[in-house]
Amino acid sequence: MRPLVAGNWKMNGLRAALSEVTTLAQMHPTPSCDVLICPPATLLAPMAEVAAGTSVAVGGQDCHAAASGAHTGDIAAEMIADAGGTAVIVGHSERRADHGEDDATVRAKAEAAIRAGLTAIICVGETEAERDAGRTLDVVLGQLAGSLPEGSLGASVVIAYEPVWAIGTGRVPELSDITEVHDALRADLAKHMPEAEAALVRLLYGGSVKPGNAAEIFGIENVNGGLVGGASLKASDFGQIVAAA
Ligand code: 13P
Repeated sequence: MRPLVAGNWKMNGLRAALSEVTTLAQMHPTPSCDVLICPPATLLAPMAEVAAGTSVAVGGQDCHAAASGAHTGDIAAEMIADAGGTAVIVGHSERRADHGEDDATVRAKAEAAIRAGLTAIICVGETEAERDAGRTLDVVLGQLAGSLPEGSLGASVVIAYEPVWAIGTGRVPELSDITEVHDALRADLAKHMPEAEAALVRLLYGGSVKPGNAAEIFGIENVNGGLVGGASLKASDFGQIVAAA
């Protein structure tokens, strides 16, 4: 399956940073994976213009479940598509924690993404306390069951496994732990959709992916790419991660 390497810029990036996209596209005119950058909403449209016709696609970091309406400060999946986006991250742990998003909210957002023709990148991941309590698989598979829209098909959703304790910390699970979670996600997906569709869902790992560890992580059988935060901001780093996929 063709991997996906996605960059989540989080709340980083002014217009001057658009040059990173140009540089990245020049570094990788024909990458062996799909490449996506999810900038802050203010940069969606200008980044989509810069990226048009290149190997780099653009996506949102969150969307509202509704297509329009009285929701001050929110953006609809349809607006992300209209701005030139092709995907949107939903249920990132920072949204779950900072904005109290639960699985039902995340599922509604994922449904909105699919309705708008976007790929929904649904994030799951355990906290350190949950991991220490031996609850990683329970938590992750529970989030999957609660966040995945009914009737999801393989090409319309991507699952990103991001252990909360690995995000922005430089700490990464053992490769055997990533393997265990991704194998469990792959097996569990077949309970939620036909097996042939479950086999098509890309499973990304996220949490302190860097140029120095990307190749070994991407080498795991059920890891089909990465969701990269800090190391996606500079084309020099992100380009190396793209090359590792
Ligand atoms: P870092 O790569 O900065 O750890 O962030 C991971 C992440 O949260 C991507 O969504």
